[in-house]
This record gives sequence, C-alpha cells and structure tokens, in this order.
Amino acid sequence: MFFANTDYFSPTYAVARDKFRAAASGAGADLHVYDYDRSPGIEEERLSIDVACLGSATSRHKLVVISGTHGAEGYAGSALQTAWLRLCASRRELDHIGVILVHALNPYGFSYGVRTNEDGIDLNRNFVDFSRGRPENRIYDEVHRFLNADIADADRCSHAEAGLSAARNRLGEDALFDAIARGQYAHPDGVFFGGTRRTWENHTLQRIVQAHLLPAEKVAVIDWHTGIGDYGEAFFLPFADAESDAYRQTTQWWEKDGLPAARPHGRSCPRYQGLVFDGIRKLLPHAEVAGGVIEWGTRGRESGELAIRQDLWLRRFGDRYPREAVVQVRADLLDSFVPTSYVWRNSVLSSGTGIVDKTVDGLIQW
Ligand SMILES: [Zn+2]
Repeated sequence: MFFANTDYFSPTYAVARDKFRAAASGAGADLHVYDYDRSPGIEEERLSIDVACLGSATSRHKLVVISGTHGAEGYAGSALQTAWLRLCASRRELDHIGVILVHALNPYGFSYGVRTNEDGIDLNRNFVDFSRGRPENRIYDEVHRFLNADIADADRCSHAEAGLSAARNRLGEDALFDAIARGQYAHPDGVFFGGTRRTWENHTLQRIVQAHLLPAEKVAVIDWHTGIGDYGEAFFLPFADAESDAYRQTTQWWEKDGLPAARPHGRSCPRYQGLVFDGIRKLLPHAEVAGGVIEWGTRGRESGELAIRQDLWLRRFGDRYPREAVVQVRADLLDSFVPTSYVWRNSVLSSGTGIVDKTVDGLIQW
C-alpha cells in the first residue's frame, strides 16, 4: 500500500493529536478527552489522552490500541491509529467487536520528545501493586551509578562504560539486561524507573477501561512502541501467560507476520514488571486478555540503549549544557524513536495497518 509521506506521521504532539481526532470524527467514532491538567506541552499546547471508540459498545470482544505509552515513541503508534481510522475502519464490519483507540497515554513525554512522564517515570513499569511494597532490584542498585552518568562528559562516560562492562562480564549479558530493563523502584534519577505510586496516566487508564471496555470477556491489546527489532520491521512481545488460550490466540494472529522468538536486542526477554498490559489484565479480572507490545525496529541495539540514557540525560543534565548540545541530543533521541526516513515510515504504515486488521479478524473469531 502506498502512503503519502506526510499524511499520517506528524512533526509534533499537537499535530498528531489533531490528526487523530479528525480521523476519529471522520470514521464516526465517539471521542473522549482526558485532560492532563498539571502542565501544558512544550509549545504551551493542551495535553490530553484522547480516546476514540468505534464498533459495538455492548460487545464482549474488545480491541484496545494504545500509542504513546513511552511518550515520543508514540509518533509511530499515533500515525498507525490515524491511518487505520482513515483507511481501514470504514470498510470493516465492526458490529461484533468494540474498538478503543487510546491516543498518547503519556502525553507529556510525547510532547517533550522523551520516553518517560513528567516525573521521569517509565509508565510501562508503573503497573505493579504498590500496596505490596516496591519490588527490589539489587543488581540494578549496583549499576545505577554507571547508568545515570553524564554521557556528554568523556571521562565520566568512559568510567561508566568500564563499570557496565565489568558487571556484564561478571553477571552475563542476559542477567544484566534483565536487571536493567525489567524495572526498578528505588532510583528516580535512573533508567526504567517505575515510580513509587500509581501515576496520573495509570489512574486515567483505569478510568478509560472502566468507561469504555466493559463488558469485556475477550480483549486484544496492541500497545505500539519503537526501538526494538530490525529497521522498519515489527517485533512482537506477547505478554499473556505462555500456556493460556490468550497466548495461543495472540501467536495465531501475529505469527502470520513471522512472530520471532521474543529476544529483544538478541537477548533473553527480561522479566518485565508493571506493564500497561498487566494493568489492563488486573482491571479486567473476568476477561481473557491477549496481545501485548508491538515494537518497530529503528536504529538497532546500540542506538536503542543510548536512547534510554539520552532520555535520562536531558532530564538530569540538559540544563548544565549549552542549548546547541541539548538540541543535538534531542534530535538524535527523536530520530531513534521515530526515524525521519520515508522508507521507514512507509514500512511501519503498510505492515502496521495489516497487523491491526488481522488482530480484528482474530478477535471476531475468538
Ligand atoms: Zn517503548
């Protein structure tokens, strides 16, 4: 399928939001707005999570498609939501399922071009049960000081790299990656920080689920992300329990596109904690929930890992450096979330709209 270069992707959060809302209206969806009142966006624009509902409100089969869990990774997910609304929704038989599109679950991060929310919290680690205390992560505690070093300072950066490489030699690649990526709850100035309590975005997702997903018995979740996988290709992370029917369904829908064994950046899948997927599952205890995260590969492993630390660097050190340094890091970071290449964007749009359609077909038959 051919996609015009600039019709679906957007240069800013505000434009992405407008396109999504226009496409939702055009498709006859019900639109709902959940305003983020704490602060405006980077251009003083209004920030909100926007929700479009189509299809049957009373069906017990629901598809939830989320963009922007990791802020600026949302450019791709937003473009896919808009493209699907414009090109696919109208020609679909949606009498038998409800479709709920959640635009910019982390609007602050989307607007500011970062992964985390306003408090530096990784929303996709925030859905743990904080009443049970914060999960520990001892290995992370040990390497934290290397991960949050000032990467724009050559000496500090090489010292941090040496520390990380010593830890990698001692623990092994997979164990270190697991400790870093699965989430930590003790270092607000660190990477993959899951917070110490439920965030506004987390509470708002609960309101969205309660308002638009009930009644639900069979639910398919697609949470669009970027950064893992081959350039412009989908990388699937199914999160239902491995033995469950929900998992089998997911692999049937997505395997058609060549579900690779989920080894992010070539390593064992981390034991992720506090995923948005976990949150939805907990909010719908009587439903079977299939799906998970779908990533779009951007610039490979090294660049992906650097992006996590650039995100942190902007927050911790950005104001100590000249503006031109910050502008460069911002541009580099944004390009690793959403490459400007038309080849990449066209690949995402053509594969991604097909994946949504296959998920719709699978959900109807489930
Ligand atoms: Zn992500």
